[in-house]
Amino acid sequence: MPTATTATPRTAAPRIAVVGAGPGGLTCARVLQRYGLPVTVFDRDGSPDARTQGGTLDMQADSGQAALRAAGLLERFLELSRPEGQQMRLLGRDAALLFDLVPEPEEAYKPEIDRGLLRGLLLDSLAPGTVHWGHHLTAVVPLGDGTHRLCFANGATSTADLVIGADGAWSRVRALLSDAVPAYTGVTFVEAWLDDADTRHPELSALVGEGTMMALADSKGLLAQRNGNRRIRLHIGLRADRSRFEHLDLADARAVRAALVREFAGWDPVLLRLITDNDGRFVDRPLFALPVPHTWTTTPGVTLLGDAAHLMSPFSGMGANLAMLDAADLAGRIATEDTLDTAVRAYEATMLPRAAEAAEGAAEGLAGAFSPDSTAHTLQHLAAFAEALRPGEAGVAAR
Ligand SMILES: Cc1cc2nc3c(=O)[nH]c(=O)nc-3n(C[C@H](O)[C@H](O)[C@H](O)COP(=O)(O)OP(=O)(O)OC[C@H]3O[C@@H](n4cnc5c(N)ncnc54)[C@H](O)[C@@H]3O)c2cc1C
Repeated sequence: MPTATTATPRTAAPRIAVVGAGPGGLTCARVLQRYGLPVTVFDRDGSPDARTQGGTLDMQADSGQAALRAAGLLERFLELSRPEGQQMRLLGRDAALLFDLVPEPEEAYKPEIDRGLLRGLLLDSLAPGTVHWGHHLTAVVPLGDGTHRLCFANGATSTADLVIGADGAWSRVRALLSDAVPAYTGVTFVEAWLDDADTRHPELSALVGEGTMMALADSKGLLAQRNGNRRIRLHIGLRADRSRFEHLDLADARAVRAALVREFAGWDPVLLRLITDNDGRFVDRPLFALPVPHTWTTTPGVTLLGDAAHLMSPFSGMGANLAMLDAADLAGRIATEDTLDTAVRAYEATMLPRAAEAAEGAAEGLAGAFSPDSTAHTLQHLAAFAEALRPGEAGVAAR
Protein backbone atom coordinates (compact mmCIF):
# COMPACT_ATOMS: atom_id res chain seq x y z
CA MET A 1 0.00 0.00 0.00
CA PRO A 2 1.55 3.39 -0.93
CA THR A 3 2.50 5.77 1.82
CA ALA A 4 1.86 9.53 1.65
CA THR A 5 4.57 12.12 2.08
CA THR A 6 4.36 15.87 2.60
CA ALA A 7 4.88 18.17 -0.44
CA THR A 8 8.44 18.69 0.79
CA PRO A 9 9.13 15.39 2.51
CA ARG A 10 10.71 15.94 5.91
CA THR A 11 9.81 12.78 7.78
CA ALA A 12 9.43 9.16 6.71
CA ALA A 13 5.79 9.11 7.83
CA PRO A 14 3.73 12.28 8.13
CA ARG A 15 2.76 13.45 11.60
CA ILE A 16 -1.03 13.43 11.46
CA ALA A 17 -3.04 14.93 14.34
CA VAL A 18 -6.79 14.46 14.49
CA VAL A 19 -8.56 16.83 16.90
CA GLY A 20 -11.77 15.23 18.17
CA ALA A 21 -12.72 11.64 19.04
CA GLY A 22 -16.28 11.79 17.70
CA PRO A 23 -17.52 9.42 14.99
CA GLY A 24 -15.59 11.37 12.34
CA GLY A 25 -12.23 11.62 14.09
CA LEU A 26 -12.21 8.01 15.23
CA THR A 27 -13.18 6.69 11.79
CA CYS A 28 -10.38 8.72 10.24
CA ALA A 29 -7.84 7.32 12.69
CA ARG A 30 -9.04 3.76 12.16
CA VAL A 31 -8.85 3.92 8.36
CA LEU A 32 -5.40 5.56 8.48
CA GLN A 33 -4.17 2.78 10.76
CA ARG A 34 -5.58 0.16 8.38
CA TYR A 35 -3.27 1.70 5.76
CA GLY A 36 -0.39 1.45 8.22
CA LEU A 37 -0.15 5.20 8.80
CA PRO A 38 0.57 6.57 12.29
CA VAL A 39 -1.96 9.02 13.73
CA THR A 40 -2.68 10.69 17.05
CA VAL A 41 -6.17 11.74 18.18
CA PHE A 42 -6.64 14.46 20.80
CA ASP A 43 -9.92 14.93 22.68
CA ARG A 44 -10.91 17.31 25.45
CA ASP A 45 -12.90 14.61 27.28
CA GLY A 46 -10.97 13.25 30.25
CA SER A 47 -11.73 9.65 29.25
CA PRO A 48 -13.98 7.68 26.89
CA ASP A 49 -16.63 7.60 29.67
CA ALA A 50 -16.29 11.22 30.78
CA ARG A 51 -19.79 12.08 29.56
CA THR A 52 -22.76 9.99 28.54
CA GLN A 53 -22.91 9.80 24.78
CA GLY A 54 -26.74 9.78 24.73
CA GLY A 55 -28.89 9.25 21.69
CA THR A 56 -28.92 6.90 18.77
CA LEU A 57 -27.54 7.29 15.26
CA ASP A 58 -28.71 5.72 12.05
CA MET A 59 -25.98 4.46 9.74
CA GLN A 60 -26.99 4.87 6.11
CA ALA A 61 -25.96 2.39 3.44
CA ASP A 62 -24.01 4.70 1.13
CA SER A 63 -22.36 6.88 3.81
CA GLY A 64 -22.05 5.66 7.41
CA GLN A 65 -22.04 1.98 6.41
CA ALA A 66 -19.63 2.66 3.53
CA ALA A 67 -17.25 4.27 6.01
CA LEU A 68 -17.61 1.35 8.42
CA ARG A 69 -16.78 -1.00 5.54
CA ALA A 70 -13.61 1.02 4.84
CA ALA A 71 -12.83 0.74 8.55
CA GLY A 72 -13.29 -3.06 8.42
CA LEU A 73 -16.08 -2.78 11.02
CA LEU A 74 -19.29 -3.21 9.02
CA GLU A 75 -20.01 -6.78 10.10
CA ARG A 76 -19.53 -5.99 13.77
CA PHE A 77 -21.71 -2.88 13.38
CA LEU A 78 -24.51 -4.97 11.86
CA GLU A 79 -24.31 -7.34 14.85
CA LEU A 80 -24.58 -4.44 17.31
CA SER A 81 -27.16 -2.35 15.47
CA ARG A 82 -30.94 -2.33 15.82
CA PRO A 83 -32.47 -2.87 12.35
CA GLU A 84 -35.97 -2.53 13.83
CA GLY A 85 -34.98 1.05 14.70
CA GLN A 86 -35.39 1.91 11.00
CA GLN A 87 -39.14 2.23 11.51
CA MET A 88 -40.44 5.73 10.71
CA ARG A 89 -43.81 7.06 11.81
CA LEU A 90 -45.61 10.34 11.20
CA LEU A 91 -48.61 11.38 13.26
CA GLY A 92 -50.89 14.38 12.99
CA ARG A 93 -51.58 16.69 15.92
CA ASP A 94 -54.73 14.57 16.48
CA ALA A 95 -52.47 11.51 16.91
CA ALA A 96 -53.77 9.97 13.65
CA LEU A 97 -51.15 7.68 12.08
CA LEU A 98 -50.34 9.18 8.67
CA PHE A 99 -47.28 7.15 7.70
CA ASP A 100 -45.63 4.04 9.12
CA LEU A 101 -42.66 2.48 7.35
CA VAL A 102 -41.74 -0.81 9.01
CA PRO A 103 -38.45 -2.34 7.78
CA GLU A 104 -38.52 -5.73 6.07
CA PRO A 105 -36.35 -8.34 7.81
CA GLU A 106 -33.50 -8.11 5.27
CA GLU A 107 -33.50 -4.31 4.93
CA ALA A 108 -30.50 -2.39 6.26
CA TYR A 109 -31.04 1.06 4.75
CA LYS A 110 -30.30 2.81 8.06
CA PRO A 111 -30.00 0.55 11.13
CA GLU A 112 -29.68 2.40 14.43
CA ILE A 113 -26.86 2.17 16.95
CA ASP A 114 -26.44 3.93 20.28
CA ARG A 115 -23.71 6.55 20.14
CA GLY A 116 -21.85 4.95 23.05
CA LEU A 117 -21.73 1.58 21.29
CA LEU A 118 -20.49 3.15 18.06
CA ARG A 119 -17.79 5.05 19.93
CA GLY A 120 -16.78 1.83 21.70
CA LEU A 121 -16.64 -0.09 18.41
CA LEU A 122 -14.36 2.52 16.86
CA LEU A 123 -12.17 2.97 19.95
CA ASP A 124 -11.62 -0.76 20.39
CA SER A 125 -10.41 -0.98 16.79
CA LEU A 126 -7.57 1.53 17.33
CA ALA A 127 -4.00 0.77 18.35
CA PRO A 128 -3.56 1.27 22.11
CA GLY A 129 -2.68 4.85 23.03
CA THR A 130 -3.99 6.39 19.79
CA VAL A 131 -6.36 8.74 21.63
CA HIS A 132 -4.88 11.29 24.03
CA TRP A 133 -7.74 12.09 26.39
CA GLY A 134 -7.87 15.28 28.46
CA HIS A 135 -6.33 17.33 25.63
CA HIS A 136 -8.53 20.39 25.14
CA LEU A 137 -7.18 22.24 22.10
CA THR A 138 -6.91 25.97 22.79
CA ALA A 139 -4.84 27.18 19.82
CA VAL A 140 -3.30 26.01 16.54
CA VAL A 141 -0.26 28.01 15.47
CA PRO A 142 0.91 27.92 11.82
CA LEU A 143 4.69 27.55 11.79
CA GLY A 144 5.08 28.98 8.28
CA ASP A 145 6.21 25.82 6.50
CA GLY A 146 2.82 24.10 6.34
CA THR A 147 3.25 22.51 9.76
CA HIS A 148 1.28 23.57 12.84
CA ARG A 149 1.77 23.56 16.60
CA LEU A 150 -1.22 22.43 18.62
CA CYS A 151 -1.55 23.91 22.12
CA PHE A 152 -3.72 22.28 24.78
CA ALA A 153 -5.26 23.55 28.00
CA ASN A 154 -3.21 21.05 30.03
CA GLY A 155 0.03 22.72 28.84
CA ALA A 156 0.95 20.03 26.30
CA THR A 157 1.96 20.93 22.74
CA SER A 158 2.37 18.85 19.60
CA THR A 159 3.61 19.61 16.08
CA ALA A 160 1.85 18.10 13.06
CA ASP A 161 2.36 17.95 9.29
CA LEU A 162 -1.41 17.66 8.92
CA VAL A 163 -4.03 18.85 11.43
CA ILE A 164 -7.46 17.32 10.86
CA GLY A 165 -10.18 19.32 12.62
CA ALA A 166 -12.81 16.76 13.64
CA ASP A 167 -13.71 18.87 16.67
CA GLY A 168 -17.41 19.30 16.03
CA ALA A 169 -19.82 22.22 15.88
CA TRP A 170 -17.67 24.73 17.77
CA SER A 171 -14.40 23.70 16.13
CA ARG A 172 -11.22 25.53 17.12
CA VAL A 173 -9.39 24.30 14.05
CA ARG A 174 -11.97 25.85 11.69
CA ALA A 175 -10.71 29.40 12.31
CA LEU A 176 -7.52 28.54 10.37
CA LEU A 177 -9.59 28.11 7.21
CA SER A 178 -12.75 30.18 7.52
CA ASP A 179 -14.40 33.01 9.45
CA ALA A 180 -17.75 31.23 9.48
CA VAL A 181 -19.49 30.61 12.79
CA PRO A 182 -22.64 28.54 13.35
CA ALA A 183 -25.88 30.56 13.48
CA TYR A 184 -29.07 29.71 15.36
CA THR A 185 -31.58 28.14 12.94
CA GLY A 186 -34.63 29.51 14.78
CA VAL A 187 -35.59 26.04 16.07
CA THR A 188 -34.94 24.77 19.58
CA PHE A 189 -35.31 21.20 20.80
CA VAL A 190 -36.02 20.53 24.45
CA GLU A 191 -34.74 17.03 25.21
CA ALA A 192 -36.17 14.55 27.71
CA TRP A 193 -36.24 10.75 28.12
CA LEU A 194 -38.72 7.96 28.77
CA ASP A 195 -36.75 5.37 30.74
CA ASP A 196 -37.71 1.70 30.75
CA ALA A 197 -40.52 2.76 28.43
CA ASP A 198 -42.24 -0.60 27.89
CA THR A 199 -42.83 -1.11 31.59
CA ARG A 200 -43.22 2.43 32.88
CA HIS A 201 -44.85 4.11 29.86
CA PRO A 202 -46.49 1.27 27.88
CA GLU A 203 -48.99 3.43 26.00
CA LEU A 204 -46.35 5.93 24.93
CA SER A 205 -43.96 3.11 24.08
CA ALA A 206 -46.55 1.61 21.70
CA LEU A 207 -47.24 5.04 20.22
CA VAL A 208 -43.55 5.58 19.39
CA GLY A 209 -42.88 2.09 17.98
CA GLU A 210 -39.38 0.69 17.45
CA GLY A 211 -37.81 3.58 15.56
CA THR A 212 -38.54 7.27 15.06
CA MET A 213 -41.94 8.84 15.60
CA MET A 214 -42.66 12.40 14.57
CA ALA A 215 -45.78 14.46 15.20
CA LEU A 216 -45.28 17.69 13.29
CA ALA A 217 -47.82 20.49 12.84
CA ASP A 218 -48.18 24.26 13.23
CA SER A 219 -44.40 24.95 13.13
CA LYS A 220 -43.75 22.68 16.10
CA GLY A 221 -43.13 19.02 16.72
CA LEU A 222 -42.83 16.08 19.09
CA LEU A 223 -40.05 13.75 17.96
CA ALA A 224 -39.36 10.49 19.74
CA GLN A 225 -36.65 7.97 19.01
CA ARG A 226 -36.21 4.47 20.42
CA ASN A 227 -32.73 3.90 21.85
CA GLY A 228 -31.12 0.75 23.29
CA ASN A 229 -32.29 -0.63 26.65
CA ARG A 230 -35.88 0.21 25.69
CA ARG A 231 -35.29 3.91 26.39
CA ILE A 232 -36.92 6.60 24.29
CA ARG A 233 -35.37 10.00 23.64
CA LEU A 234 -37.81 12.81 23.15
CA HIS A 235 -37.25 16.13 21.41
CA ILE A 236 -39.92 18.77 21.83
CA GLY A 237 -39.25 21.15 18.95
CA LEU A 238 -40.32 24.76 18.68
CA ARG A 239 -39.68 27.61 16.32
CA ALA A 240 -38.74 30.28 18.82
CA ASP A 241 -36.43 33.21 19.51
CA ARG A 242 -33.73 32.28 21.96
CA SER A 243 -35.00 35.03 24.25
CA ARG A 244 -38.17 32.98 24.78
CA PHE A 245 -36.19 30.46 26.82
CA GLU A 246 -34.16 32.88 28.89
CA HIS A 247 -36.60 33.02 31.77
CA LEU A 248 -37.25 29.28 31.84
CA ASP A 249 -35.40 27.28 34.50
CA LEU A 250 -35.03 23.82 32.94
CA ALA A 251 -34.46 22.30 36.38
CA ASP A 252 -38.00 23.34 37.32
CA ALA A 253 -39.77 20.42 35.61
CA ARG A 254 -43.26 21.53 36.60
CA ALA A 255 -42.80 24.99 35.05
CA VAL A 256 -41.22 23.53 31.91
CA ARG A 257 -44.07 21.04 31.44
CA ALA A 258 -46.69 23.76 31.93
CA ALA A 259 -44.98 26.09 29.45
CA LEU A 260 -44.63 23.33 26.84
CA VAL A 261 -48.23 22.12 27.23
CA ARG A 262 -49.35 25.71 26.57
CA GLU A 263 -47.27 25.72 23.38
CA PHE A 264 -48.99 22.52 22.19
CA ALA A 265 -52.54 23.59 23.13
CA GLY A 266 -55.11 21.74 21.02
CA TRP A 267 -52.90 18.68 20.38
CA ASP A 268 -54.27 15.24 21.20
CA PRO A 269 -54.02 14.32 24.91
CA VAL A 270 -51.96 11.20 24.19
CA LEU A 271 -49.33 13.33 22.45
CA LEU A 272 -49.34 15.82 25.33
CA ARG A 273 -48.49 12.96 27.65
CA LEU A 274 -45.08 12.84 26.00
CA ILE A 275 -44.57 16.24 27.63
CA THR A 276 -46.28 15.62 30.95
CA ASP A 277 -45.23 12.00 31.65
CA ASN A 278 -41.61 11.88 30.55
CA ASP A 279 -38.80 11.34 33.06
CA GLY A 280 -36.90 14.56 32.28
CA ARG A 281 -34.23 15.79 32.79
CA PHE A 282 -34.98 18.66 30.38
CA VAL A 283 -32.02 19.78 28.27
CA ASP A 284 -31.96 22.82 26.00
CA ARG A 285 -30.74 21.88 22.49
CA PRO A 286 -30.91 24.89 20.19
CA LEU A 287 -30.14 23.89 16.60
CA PHE A 288 -27.24 25.72 14.97
CA ALA A 289 -25.91 25.45 11.42
CA LEU A 290 -22.99 26.78 9.39
CA PRO A 291 -23.75 28.93 6.36
CA VAL A 292 -24.56 27.05 3.14
CA PRO A 293 -22.34 26.52 1.28
CA HIS A 294 -19.48 26.65 3.77
CA THR A 295 -16.25 26.59 1.83
CA TRP A 296 -12.61 27.67 2.01
CA THR A 297 -9.40 27.75 0.02
CA THR A 298 -7.27 24.64 0.40
CA THR A 299 -4.46 25.46 2.83
CA PRO A 300 -1.34 23.31 3.38
CA GLY A 301 -1.28 21.31 6.57
CA VAL A 302 -4.88 21.64 7.74
CA THR A 303 -8.37 20.44 6.86
CA LEU A 304 -11.75 19.76 8.45
CA LEU A 305 -14.26 16.95 8.51
CA GLY A 306 -17.73 16.32 9.94
CA ASP A 307 -19.57 19.00 11.89
CA ALA A 308 -16.43 21.15 12.00
CA ALA A 309 -16.71 21.44 8.20
CA HIS A 310 -20.46 21.43 7.66
CA LEU A 311 -22.61 21.63 10.80
CA MET A 312 -26.22 21.28 9.65
CA SER A 313 -29.60 20.66 11.25
CA PRO A 314 -30.33 17.05 12.23
CA PHE A 315 -33.12 17.14 9.63
CA SER A 316 -30.54 15.97 7.12
CA GLY A 317 -30.31 12.75 9.16
CA MET A 318 -26.76 12.81 7.78
CA GLY A 319 -24.46 14.49 10.33
CA ALA A 320 -22.63 11.49 11.74
CA ASN A 321 -22.92 9.64 8.42
CA LEU A 322 -21.22 12.45 6.53
CA ALA A 323 -18.58 12.86 9.24
CA MET A 324 -17.62 9.20 8.86
CA LEU A 325 -17.75 9.28 5.07
CA ASP A 326 -15.52 12.39 5.06
CA ALA A 327 -13.15 10.56 7.39
CA ALA A 328 -12.89 7.43 5.25
CA ASP A 329 -12.43 9.52 2.08
CA LEU A 330 -9.74 11.70 3.63
CA ALA A 331 -7.82 8.76 5.09
CA GLY A 332 -7.98 6.95 1.75
CA ARG A 333 -6.64 10.03 -0.07
CA ILE A 334 -3.82 10.47 2.44
CA ALA A 335 -2.83 6.85 1.89
CA THR A 336 -2.96 6.91 -1.89
CA GLU A 337 -2.01 10.42 -3.07
CA ASP A 338 1.67 11.36 -3.47
CA THR A 339 1.65 14.24 -1.00
CA LEU A 340 -0.47 15.48 1.89
CA ASP A 341 -1.26 18.62 -0.11
CA THR A 342 -2.68 16.72 -3.06
CA ALA A 343 -4.55 14.40 -0.70
CA VAL A 344 -6.25 17.31 1.07
CA ARG A 345 -7.02 19.05 -2.22
CA ALA A 346 -8.61 15.91 -3.71
CA TYR A 347 -10.58 15.24 -0.52
CA GLU A 348 -11.94 18.78 -0.28
CA ALA A 349 -12.87 18.80 -3.99
CA THR A 350 -15.25 15.89 -3.28
CA MET A 351 -16.32 16.69 0.27
CA LEU A 352 -17.23 20.39 -0.03
CA PRO A 353 -19.85 20.06 -2.81
CA ARG A 354 -21.26 16.90 -1.22
CA ALA A 355 -21.62 18.70 2.13
CA ALA A 356 -23.17 21.77 0.51
CA GLU A 357 -25.85 19.63 -1.14
CA ALA A 358 -26.65 17.83 2.13
CA ALA A 359 -26.67 21.10 4.10
CA GLU A 360 -29.06 22.65 1.61
CA GLY A 361 -31.37 19.64 2.02
CA ALA A 362 -31.08 19.86 5.81
CA ALA A 363 -32.00 23.56 5.81
CA GLU A 364 -34.99 22.90 3.55
CA GLY A 365 -36.02 19.91 5.67
CA LEU A 366 -35.92 21.95 8.86
CA ALA A 367 -37.78 24.88 7.30
CA GLY A 368 -40.49 22.54 5.99
CA ALA A 369 -40.82 20.52 9.20
CA PHE A 370 -41.22 23.70 11.28
CA SER A 371 -43.59 25.56 8.97
CA PRO A 372 -47.37 26.05 9.07
CA ASP A 373 -47.49 23.20 6.51
CA SER A 374 -45.25 20.86 8.45
CA THR A 375 -47.48 17.76 8.34
CA ALA A 376 -48.00 17.82 4.57
CA HIS A 377 -44.36 18.70 3.93
CA THR A 378 -43.05 15.85 6.04
CA LEU A 379 -45.54 13.35 4.63
CA GLN A 380 -44.40 14.21 1.11
CA HIS A 381 -40.76 13.82 2.11
CA LEU A 382 -41.38 10.43 3.77
CA ALA A 383 -43.43 9.17 0.83
CA ALA A 384 -40.57 10.07 -1.54
CA PHE A 385 -38.15 8.18 0.72
CA ALA A 386 -40.43 5.12 0.76
CA GLU A 387 -40.88 5.25 -3.03
CA ALA A 388 -37.10 5.31 -3.55
CA LEU A 389 -36.69 2.41 -1.14
CA ARG A 390 -39.51 0.23 -2.45
CA PRO A 391 -40.57 1.53 -5.87
CA GLY A 392 -44.30 1.19 -6.45
CA GLU A 393 -45.00 0.21 -2.86
CA ALA A 394 -44.93 3.60 -1.13
CA GLY A 395 -48.68 3.32 -0.50
CA VAL A 396 -47.94 0.46 1.89
CA ALA A 397 -46.35 2.92 4.28
CA ALA A 398 -48.86 5.71 3.92
CA ARG A 399 -52.04 5.06 5.86
C1 LIG B 1 -30.50 16.36 18.29
C2 LIG B 1 -29.56 15.77 17.29
C3 LIG B 1 -29.85 14.55 16.68
C4 LIG B 1 -28.99 14.02 15.72
N1 LIG B 1 -29.31 12.84 15.11
C5 LIG B 1 -28.51 12.35 14.13
C6 LIG B 1 -28.82 11.12 13.43
O1 LIG B 1 -29.81 10.46 13.71
N2 LIG B 1 -27.98 10.70 12.44
C7 LIG B 1 -26.85 11.39 12.13
O2 LIG B 1 -26.11 10.97 11.22
N3 LIG B 1 -26.50 12.53 12.79
C8 LIG B 1 -27.30 13.01 13.76
N4 LIG B 1 -26.97 14.17 14.41
C9 LIG B 1 -25.73 14.85 14.03
C10 LIG B 1 -24.52 14.19 14.65
O3 LIG B 1 -24.66 14.15 16.05
C11 LIG B 1 -23.24 14.96 14.30
O4 LIG B 1 -23.29 15.37 12.97
C12 LIG B 1 -22.00 14.09 14.53
O5 LIG B 1 -21.85 13.77 15.90
C13 LIG B 1 -20.76 14.83 14.04
O6 LIG B 1 -19.63 14.03 14.28
P1 LIG B 1 -18.20 14.70 14.41
O7 LIG B 1 -17.24 13.57 14.63
O8 LIG B 1 -17.97 15.62 13.27
O9 LIG B 1 -18.28 15.65 15.70
P2 LIG B 1 -18.70 15.35 17.19
O10 LIG B 1 -19.51 14.13 17.33
O11 LIG B 1 -19.27 16.61 17.73
O12 LIG B 1 -17.32 15.07 17.93
C14 LIG B 1 -16.40 16.13 18.18
C15 LIG B 1 -15.38 15.65 19.20
O13 LIG B 1 -14.43 16.71 19.33
C16 LIG B 1 -14.13 16.92 20.69
N5 LIG B 1 -13.74 18.33 20.82
C17 LIG B 1 -14.49 19.43 20.59
N6 LIG B 1 -13.77 20.54 20.79
C18 LIG B 1 -12.53 20.15 21.15
C19 LIG B 1 -11.33 20.84 21.52
N7 LIG B 1 -11.26 22.20 21.51
N8 LIG B 1 -10.24 20.10 21.85
C20 LIG B 1 -10.29 18.73 21.82
N9 LIG B 1 -11.40 18.03 21.52
C21 LIG B 1 -12.49 18.73 21.18
C22 LIG B 1 -15.44 16.58 21.43
O14 LIG B 1 -15.20 16.20 22.78
C23 LIG B 1 -15.98 15.42 20.59
O15 LIG B 1 -15.54 14.16 21.08
C24 LIG B 1 -27.80 14.71 15.38
C25 LIG B 1 -27.50 15.93 16.01
C26 LIG B 1 -28.37 16.47 16.95
C27 LIG B 1 -28.04 17.79 17.59
